[in-house]
Amino acid sequence: MSRLEQEQPTATQAATGQVAEGPRRSPLFDVCVHEVNLNGAVDAVNGLIARGMPSHVVTLDASMCVAARRDLELRRIVLHAELVTPDSVGVLWAAKRKGIALTDRASGVEISERLCAASAARGTRIFFLGSAPGVAEDAAIRMRDRYPGCNIVGTMHGYYDAVEERNVLHAIRQAAPDVLLVAFGIPKQEKWIALHREALGVPVMIGVGGSLDVMSGRVERAPQWARRFNMEWLYRLAQNPKKIGKALALPRFVWMALTR
Ligand code: UDP
Repeated sequence: MSRLEQEQPTATQAATGQVAEGPRRSPLFDVCVHEVNLNGAVDAVNGLIARGMPSHVVTLDASMCVAARRDLELRRIVLHAELVTPDSVGVLWAAKRKGIALTDRASGVEISERLCAASAARGTRIFFLGSAPGVAEDAAIRMRDRYPGCNIVGTMHGYYDAVEERNVLHAIRQAAPDVLLVAFGIPKQEKWIALHREALGVPVMIGVGGSLDVMSGRVERAPQWARRFNMEWLYRLAQNPKKIGKALALPRFVWMALTR
């Protein structure tokens, strides 16, 4: 067994860790998930902001469960995250098979929009990091337009080089956000957050994948019918065939759910 494996808390050990006064955490395959719906996730995030210590929110989907089988660093990160929300219908389905009380998704894009919607009233300072140049700025414009007073304190795209990273970290520290949305895709965003969380000291850092693309209006959310029939993933695959790698993880995920 490698040193990293020895250091891993098992999913069952991790299940004893809780968001302070927060939702229950249950083991799921090699990782874990908190028993939250969207409202519960947003409440938990607000609790973490109030706590003020650096914390990591993971939005768990089927591809991450599959990746965490072999990627021990990703597994460790998910097991140590303060909040892990169910971000896909696959996770809801697998959780139900294991008797975990999950009813609805709490996706990155929905949590992000809720935080923007309440930003003015709660005084929440939000920073958008990631996606192609221009996307984070457009997302900020749209969110301010849709939710007047929404306090986006900074934006930065996700295609900077190693030399620029110092400036990015400096800009985030200067902006002093309460929430940092990191849109680099799985697992890059989770590893980036784990690497920088203590030095940045932002109370809540959330890996949000393609959420800024959606919030900017560059990628449309699936229509209501597709969401109602849990086909949002198929709609997004049709829009972006590059996601085929992610779709190919699904059969493995189903196999895991049926056999473990
Ligand atoms: N991205 C980025 N920097 C990178 C790689 C990706 O900012 O080095 C962005 C990409 O432009 C996209 C997001 O990360 O906006 C990944 O979105 P996707 O929906 O593929 O995320 P996932 O399905 O992994 O959650």
